[in-house]
Amino acid sequence: MRSKTRFKASLRRAGTASLVLLSLLSWQRAGEPAWAQATPPAKGVVCDRAAFRLVVDVGHTADAPGARSARGAVEYDFNLRLATLIEQKLIETGFEKTVLLVTDGPKRRSLTDRVARANGSSADLFLSIHHDSVPDSFLEKWEFEGEEHSFSDRFHGHSIFVSADNADFPGSLQFGRLLGSALEARGLRYTPHYTEKFMGHRQRLLIDAEAGVYRYDQLIVLKNTRMPAVLLEAGSIINRDEELQMGSPERQSLIVAAVTDAVESFCASRRPRNPHQAARRPGAAPAAKAALQPAAAVSPAKR
Ligand SMILES: [Zn+2]
Repeated sequence: MRSKTRFKASLRRAGTASLVLLSLLSWQRAGEPAWAQATPPAKGVVCDRAAFRLVVDVGHTADAPGARSARGAVEYDFNLRLATLIEQKLIETGFEKTVLLVTDGPKRRSLTDRVARANGSSADLFLSIHHDSVPDSFLEKWEFEGEEHSFSDRFHGHSIFVSADNADFPGSLQFGRLLGSALEARGLRYTPHYTEKFMGHRQRLLIDAEAGVYRYDQLIVLKNTRMPAVLLEAGSIINRDEELQMGSPERQSLIVAAVTDAVESFCASRRPRNPHQAARRPGAAPAAKAALQPAAAVSPAKR
């Protein structure tokens, strides 16, 4: 594993894509609390892929690699592989400013490092990639290739987390829903077990039961990032069968395609924080300058 922090940014400049005019619509789902409302796609807005900045965060570090799989592999390796595939696919699809965020060192320092780098890059969206395990009380023992390992086949499936303390909670929830729907459209089912009492301090509030989006307000990378932020537990690697699936190119392609779809839909509904380079030149036309202003802030109501 690499020992140095890597923060790879595409150096390619955005092309001469035309500026898009954003029409902000006010929209409210009947019967839903204010914090649960997602931003609707704005009419007539197309996604400026070359201007959109997505940070794909690789969960954990080589030094503090997260969960162990049923066969003794580390979560960090799964995260790095899937996040790299996501980054490559998005760049291929025209999202040239997609960056892969890899940090090193102990957990706490790497968390503040991730947030600082994401905020410093003025990203439009932050997506953290993880693979799931279970609380220790669920672990059983088995032997694999002559060695004893822990496993639990009790749960399987992905889960999506957002924080109501994020600076753009409605945006986070909007992307979480898009991602959940895109995964579901590919036959992938989220795990509902985070709602159960037996999860103890890991019990979470399911805020979208269709898309499988949970609230996890305290997560540092979700609450301290200044752009919409979502954490994806892509699947359970402590589950013996799902560990094998998570290592398969077929499952990886499904997840990569779902993320790409969700990013495209999200991008099409948002004003880019960093419109194309031409608009930044000194002396640019007032109309172009106006387009650089941040979109109207939406303050999430706290529960
Ligand atoms: Zn993790």
